[in-house]
Amino acid sequence: MGGGQWFTDRAGTRWFFDSGALCLDFAYTGDLGHANPAWERLHSPGDLADWLTQRFGSLAGPVDATVLAAALGLRAAIVIVARALAVDAAPDPAAVDVVNAFAAGADLPPQLDGGTLAPPAPNAPRALATVARDAVRVFADGGARIRTCAADDCALVFHDDSRTNSRRWCSMRRCGNRAKVRAHRSAGPRSDPPP
Ligand SMILES: [Zn+2]
Repeated sequence: MGGGQWFTDRAGTRWFFDSGALCLDFAYTGDLGHANPAWERLHSPGDLADWLTQRFGSLAGPVDATVLAAALGLRAAIVIVARALAVDAAPDPAAVDVVNAFAAGADLPPQLDGGTLAPPAPNAPRALATVARDAVRVFADGGARIRTCAADDCALVFHDDSRTNSRRWCSMRRCGNRAKVRAHRSAGPRSDPPP
């Protein structure tokens, strides 16, 4: 369960990054710990409510400063675990504990249509538990499908949910195409200046 979201690069170009997992989409509401404040999307409880509503539908119950603080705590833990797994390192156990604590909460369970009872109303704590359970899913067993984009100058982390387990790029249209162009150039006469 991913979905992706729009990014804007330094040149102002919008491009779509599908991280391949709900929990990584959530991690990329921030800068993934790269000290780039321009990437922050969750400046206020309202920003968090908007992001969660886009993913889960309208929320019952408040999204206040306490919920935002909790969400940012979960996000920070997801970032720590994802970045460790992306370089095949062991994640900080304290961050794993945070992810597990959120995953232990009541989530938004899958529901069959056609019953007589209303499903539990989405609220922010259930939505965050759902994000945390997605993290448990994709980070399990050493997160073998958590990778960093293969481009030398790109640090984006994604979950490879392809059937062939062969995803290499954050985006084929972004880093994938640049790599193809480079490979094409290096096959020809080396007269071009470096990009
Ligand atoms: Zn990339």
